Amino acid sequence: MLDLAIIGGGPAGLTAGLYATRGGLENVTMFEKGMPGGQITQSSEIENYPGVSGEITGMDLMMPWPEQCQKFGLKHSMVEVTRVSKGENGFVISKGDGTTEEAHSVIVCTGSTPKRAGFAGEDEFFGRGVSTCATCDGFFYKGKEVAVIGGGDTALEEALYLAKICAKVYLVHRRDTFRSAPNTIERVKNTANIELVLNTVPEEVYGDAMGVNGLRVKANDGTIRDINVPGVFVFVGNNVNNSVLLQEDGSFLCDMTEWGEVKVDIKMQTSVAGLYAAGDMRIDAPKQVVCAAGDGAVAALQAIAFVDEKLNG
Ligand code: FAD
Ligand code: NAP
Repeated sequence: MLDLAIIGGGPAGLTAGLYATRGGLENVTMFEKGMPGGQITQSSEIENYPGVSGEITGMDLMMPWPEQCQKFGLKHSMVEVTRVSKGENGFVISKGDGTTEEAHSVIVCTGSTPKRAGFAGEDEFFGRGVSTCATCDGFFYKGKEVAVIGGGDTALEEALYLAKICAKVYLVHRRDTFRSAPNTIERVKNTANIELVLNTVPEEVYGDAMGVNGLRVKANDGTIRDINVPGVFVFVGNNVNNSVLLQEDGSFLCDMTEWGEVKVDIKMQTSVAGLYAAGDMRIDAPKQVVCAAGDGAVAALQAIAFVDEKLNG
């Protein structure tokens, strides 16, 4: 029986593994279906991880993390977890290979995945001018013009964030009403350097080897417009990778928000004792590496105390 099962090997999972093993838990396995490192390994540049300056890719940043954890005894099982459920004496981890393992405690940190809008060039230029993260990439467009796609809370809030950094933000939305909080809509409308481009869909992002040169959009009346921007931010929704918490009867193992995020308290504790969630998948996650790592550490410290109490009273 594992002391702790960690599901997901991104910044949250790896940090949880480091703190749990170094903090005294002996039998800790991190289940990661691919190479450890998480989604930041897709990023060509990360500038906001404290203490790490200079030109560094996400892959460079994450490379030393697994080795550091393994030094303290973290085991990595390269397998997809299909479900975490309650067992007789703890939790049952069901794996894609059909086998199961038991654990006294579990930290789930399977991350989240921003949706893509599906226009031409979006995938080709992803990470080279097309982004789904204003906090990560907004600064690269300081003083320049950018486009934002979407009409929900995220698109409007990120447009406001970008308007503080960039010269101008074109907010491209396919309808003429937003699905966002009224005061956020009001703030967007009152921000001088946000231009609303409504009833309009993105057709194509184009550029060259250096990156993006522009976004072609099409209004509902058929009018085509070229917006000459080097940066396009896509905020058309987000999938939380929460399927491991889904039970056979269709319910979730713990309390979730209506948007599929795991509800946790300030200690990353879910509504189920011994079950923690950390990183991008938890409620109100800032979706940053440093925050995911911090969550992982907090969750591991709680798991250590939980297992100690369970085994030693
Ligand atoms: P993830 O990093 O998403 O890790 C989750 C892990 O769980 C993955 O490795 C996945 O393979 C694994 N997993 C999922 N489901 C299962 C399963 N069922 N079984 C086993 N394993 C599973 N943040 C910054 O701070 N600065 C930046 O500049 C920045 N730039 C970014 C650029 C890009 C292109 C992207 C995509 C993200 C960027 N981010 C940035 C955000 C940052 O990557 C995330 O906030 C962070 O990685 C979240 O960490 P996490 O551990 O919660 O989840
Ligand atoms: P969302 O509410 O689903 O909005 C997605 C937006 O993208 C919608 O405006 C949608 O247009 C548009 N869209 C979807 N697919 C598209 C496509 N292929 N091409 C162009 N546009 C497309 O997603 P979200 O903004 O990420 O928010 C998710 C949830 O989190 C929401 O419930 C939101 O309220 C919540 N949230 C809350 C806060 C907050 O309270 N501060 C902050 C962020 C998010 P349509 O409108 O036409 O469908």
